Amino acid sequence: MNQDYDLIVIGGGSGGIATANRAASYGAKTALIAAGPLGGTCVNVGCVPKKIFWNAAHLAEQMRMAEDYGFDAVASSFHWERLKAKRDAYIDRLNGRYAQGLDGNGVTLIRGHARFHDKNQVEVDSKILRAPHILIATGGQPTWPDIPGAELGISSDGFFELEKAPRCVAIVGAGYIAVELAGVLHALGSDVSLLMRRKHFLNDFEPILREHLMDAMLHQGINLLAQRQVRELEKRPDGLCLHFQDGDCLGGLDAVIWAIGRRPNSEELELENVGISQDANGFIPVDAFQNTAIPGIYALGDVTSAPALTPVAIAAGRRLADRLFNQQSERHLDVTLVPTVVFSHPPIATVGLSETAARETYGDEAVKVYQTRFTPMLRAFSEDPEKTAMKLVTVGREEKIVGLHAIGDGVDEMLQGFAVALRMGASKKDFDDTIAIHPTSSEELVTLR
Ligand code: FAD
Ligand code: NDP
Repeated sequence: MNQDYDLIVIGGGSGGIATANRAASYGAKTALIAAGPLGGTCVNVGCVPKKIFWNAAHLAEQMRMAEDYGFDAVASSFHWERLKAKRDAYIDRLNGRYAQGLDGNGVTLIRGHARFHDKNQVEVDSKILRAPHILIATGGQPTWPDIPGAELGISSDGFFELEKAPRCVAIVGAGYIAVELAGVLHALGSDVSLLMRRKHFLNDFEPILREHLMDAMLHQGINLLAQRQVRELEKRPDGLCLHFQDGDCLGGLDAVIWAIGRRPNSEELELENVGISQDANGFIPVDAFQNTAIPGIYALGDVTSAPALTPVAIAAGRRLADRLFNQQSERHLDVTLVPTVVFSHPPIATVGLSETAARETYGDEAVKVYQTRFTPMLRAFSEDPEKTAMKLVTVGREEKIVGLHAIGDGVDEMLQGFAVALRMGASKKDFDDTIAIHPTSSEELVTLR
């Protein structure tokens, strides 16, 4: 075959950039086609701007506690526009650094929208590029509800464009984005309502996590409205008004954020030209090695049904490059025990099976759980009642730990090391035999009885 490159990567997000850089480091002649700003969702409208706002919200909370620790009342007027401008400049610098990184590794960056022309051929701006290996890493985009007036609301992308804090905001959804944005907006001074269509949010998570978070949010003053199906969004003189299926409505809103999930960017690729079909949700099916149904075409990250997390996309991409260009023929991503943090207030950290999933997998007899709920010293001293909760799910006589779940101050930074222990097959006894670090909240995880 006449080829221009060894590898063409479609998509300049977390997964695409990681794959291109790793492949090029092995000497593969690599092109990366990027339709949007480099860094993709995570850098531009995801993890990075979200974490900056989460940090600001966390500081606001800490400032509220500062008086209890002997400080004079801390000035707390917050300037949204100042933070946004600084955040945008930070992201611009990151975009530049990604471009430099690709350049430094010898990856050819092509700006534009790619579509498949043929099995080994991709078209960008009427130009055909050829390669024996083509990776699809086109990520996803927010889902919009199919109801009248939906366009009056915004998605998480629109949240990051807001020039000032919404005074009164409703968030519709029940996943990561809904609870994260609700916590951030509330801590930064907005009046927040969170609307979910079922009884709870985070329905796929270990129940103690969502129960604890719901209590905390209610206590903070977030208006949690359960079992509300939205029917219409209407603009009225006093603001936006959300109508529900049950006839009730919520008005006086100056922003409504849809956070009802994301869908893969697979449509404009014209996959039918190469015979790749999508599943019912538009995801591209792949095997454990990121192979699609067509040899030489691979997919990873949010365009597949893998957990939609940046480190998952990056890890899949690096392993794929190791396999294709560094003779590591069995190298592939293992998606069991993926640790994840929900940057809620307080944060959630979770890895492995919930108690329910463990019981379904191993049977009731085999499962034993250990849990605790306590007021961390930081909060006890400041007379803030917010508690921390932790749970270990173990199986078998050796009490192998198959799930670890925590919610509370600092658990976001606690999880990574514990995830290593779970991957290594740690048992409850291994935790018990580990000397605690005192006084911390994490010591509770090695002293559970
Ligand atoms: P993306 O990063 O989406 O990159 C895909 C790129 O492909 C995009 O730049 C797109 O423009 C481009 N593209 C699409 N179609 C074409 C085409 N035809 N031709 C050329 N280019 C194309 N994950 C975490 O791990 N931690 C977090 O804290 C976190 N927070 C998040 C917060 C929010 C609000 C959101 C929305 C997501 C968050 N995520 C987080 C998820 C994370 O951002 C994604 O899992 C990750 O970005 C997926 O990487 P990807 O490479 O698959 O796709
Ligand atoms: P999620 O898939 O996490 O949650 C969306 C939820 O919205 C669904 O689970 C559903 O919950 C609810 N929903 C769906 N349709 C409707 C509807 N029509 N009306 C009301 N509610 C509805 O999606 P997100 O958009 O929050 O996030 C996408 C992904 O991005 C996440 O799954 C995660 O992988 C990633 N992400 C990761 C973050 C992190 O690592 N900290 C942060 C943000 C995103 P139910 O069925 O219970 O009603």
